[in-house]
Amino acid sequence: MNLIFTGPPGAGKGTIASRISEELKIPHISTGDLFRKAIKEKTPLGLRVESILASGELVPDDVTCGIVEERLKLKDAVDGFILDGFPRTIVQAEALSGITRIDGVVNFLVEDQLIIRRLSGRRICRNCGAGYHVDFMPPKKEGICDVCGGELYTRPDDAIEAIQNRLEVYRVQTSPLIDYYRRKDLIIDVDGSPDAASVTTDVLKLLTRLQAHR
Ligand code: ADP
Ligand code: AMP
Repeated sequence: MNLIFTGPPGAGKGTIASRISEELKIPHISTGDLFRKAIKEKTPLGLRVESILASGELVPDDVTCGIVEERLKLKDAVDGFILDGFPRTIVQAEALSGITRIDGVVNFLVEDQLIIRRLSGRRICRNCGAGYHVDFMPPKKEGICDVCGGELYTRPDDAIEAIQNRLEVYRVQTSPLIDYYRRKDLIIDVDGSPDAASVTTDVLKLLTRLQAHR
């Protein structure tokens, strides 16, 4: 299945995508992760996008679409994928429609108050990128990744000013995608506010139903 996970920052797209990716054996492709990897490796792309990510603005469409197009050419994406955080604009959605077919768009619904709590408590492993939350998904040992023992850090764009900007960017530039994909009958709404295990089960059920109707 070729899937998009959409919703505001902090809705749980990455957390649920990584679990569903393991379950369905399809790659989890996060444009945010691809940019953060480039920043960490100080590639030309990383140097170009570092300040954009820190501010919470969007990376230009041509740059983002180019990266996704290249990533989707890799062998592991032939039998399906989960795009997390892409597309984020109508221009990106139009470009994507020229690259591949999409079977469903899972739309994570979460209130702003919970989003702010989730983002301000988010911690990421500097080494392997695994995600945690200080209250909702704490690591076994504070500040240390359960998976690889790496150091956990707070993303610069999870600072409160950047969170407010990202919510605004989401409202103005990304939320119109919901109507765009609803018109194509691709939207699958899911309540993203329960715990991650429940949301994962709900999404898997909805995807099983989608597969049965394809
Ligand atoms: P997104 O990819 O949509 O920006 P994340 O998956 O990174 O969001 O989740 C944001 C934060 O909320 C992370 O710290 C994550 O551990 C936590 N989180 C995600 N989903 C849930 C959930 N269902 N219940 C509680 N916390 C969650
Ligand atoms: P995320 O990890 O999805 O929260 O993304 C982190 C940041 O990466 C965003 O705030 C943007 O600056 C950038 N980014 C990720 N995906 C896209 C996209 N599809 N289009 C433009 N910028 C993006």
